[in-house]
Amino acid sequence: METVELFSAEGKGRGLKATKEQWAGDVIFAERAYAAVVFDSLTHLVCHTCFKRHEKLHRCGQCKFAHYCDRTCQKEGWAKHKSECSAVKKQGKAPNENIRLAAQILWRIEREGGGLTEGSLVSIDELQNHVEHFGDEEKKELRVDLESFLEFWPPNSKQFGMQYISHILGVINCNGFTLSDQRGLQAVGVGIFPNLCMVNHDCWPNCSVIFNNGNHEAVRSLFHTQMRIELRALGKISPGEELTVSYVDFLNVGEDRRQQLKKQYYFDCTCQHCQKGIKDDLMLAVKEGGEKPSQETVKEIIQYSKDTLEKIDKARSEGVYHEVVKLCRECLAKQEAILGDTNIYLLRILSILSEVLSYLQHINEAAGCSKRMVDGYVKLYHPNNAQLGMALMRAGVTHWHAGLIEVGHEMLCKAYAVLLVTHGPSHPITKDLEAMRVQSEMELRMFQQNEFMYYKMREAALQNQKIQVMPEPTNEVSPGIFQKKQ
Ligand SMILES: [Zn+2]
Ligand SMILES: [Zn+2]
Ligand SMILES: [Zn+2]
Repeated sequence: METVELFSAEGKGRGLKATKEQWAGDVIFAERAYAAVVFDSLTHLVCHTCFKRHEKLHRCGQCKFAHYCDRTCQKEGWAKHKSECSAVKKQGKAPNENIRLAAQILWRIEREGGGLTEGSLVSIDELQNHVEHFGDEEKKELRVDLESFLEFWPPNSKQFGMQYISHILGVINCNGFTLSDQRGLQAVGVGIFPNLCMVNHDCWPNCSVIFNNGNHEAVRSLFHTQMRIELRALGKISPGEELTVSYVDFLNVGEDRRQQLKKQYYFDCTCQHCQKGIKDDLMLAVKEGGEKPSQETVKEIIQYSKDTLEKIDKARSEGVYHEVVKLCRECLAKQEAILGDTNIYLLRILSILSEVLSYLQHINEAAGCSKRMVDGYVKLYHPNNAQLGMALMRAGVTHWHAGLIEVGHEMLCKAYAVLLVTHGPSHPITKDLEAMRVQSEMELRMFQQNEFMYYKMREAALQNQKIQVMPEPTNEVSPGIFQKKQ
């Protein structure tokens, strides 16, 4: 950890600063999880060692609970799973993810002691738990968790005091980092990364953090399951500068971001963007040209949008996609008369609509929506924001599928430039994107040389095989980086 230094500032608590100059895309540090677990609902679908999603997983023959990609992942995970395995077997079932994570942490402390581990700037003991900030509801949940923990914890393992177990549960509650599958499409688990916990929040940060599941093509087991997070610089960072990441999605007005941060992480954001309300006007933009809508009308349409988004969420989680499309189209028609192109309520509808329409193969309408969405995003997000990169990629693929090769290829190139910074060249998503970029470039060249031939080829390709279906919309990775119960 030569690239960073721990510091503590008056009134701000601890933080990390750079000790060396960094440039966009530099990995400032990589960190393996101190402990990590798969979410309850996915324990049979995601590898318990590398957190990749797979169709076919090996099951642990002992507890029948843990699942792995292959023998390499199983072998790699055994030291961590051994105690869990017998505890699960004994109880006949596994407890919830919070309890499993607390147990993983405490077994590691039992094995290695509670001090600093190699490459760590802080120990688990020194992480914040915020238990003193808990409200009545949270305290009640903590007591329930404590009880199930004690029920699960085997008598032959090292015994810890109630206060210490509460500390660990509190740490998980506010520092648990959300892990995603290898495509970055779904949140699949939660882990603790002590160094990352030291990076403070800024709504317009100079770093971003990405989860990398490791490279399965690598034969050596060391690389095979090297799941880790990487802290990557988004631009030039000078020595002595504080390193920051955003704990929440930027696409909320300052007041809403501050509320979310206060509720989830117990601090008041004083970053420049919040203080000056930078971009708030764009996020709440109203339609220009013609008569300016009254404040009352704007308020009404925003409330209507919020209500509709709730209905959409429900329909989407039930998989009733035609209902989602209907709700979105209705909402959009009303919004278009009043809201501006960068208004976040309009953009949220466009994002959902384009995703669901692609899935339903209404590819041309999907392309149109995705174009408007990324045009708005470009004006709001930091140019190297990971969410922007992913949105550009999605929009690029949609255009490509729709046969809009020029726009599609351009979007894929832009997405690639962003992902090289936020994800790095070896991330599976970047590799996929690179392959698509090369393929679409070839098709673009064919299109430019002979448009007729291009369409002929496309027609043939469409006849031979149904065009690649977009993945079914899932609950996206939560835009908050630390996974706190809402
Ligand atoms: Zn695996
Ligand atoms: Zn087992
Ligand atoms: Zn802020």
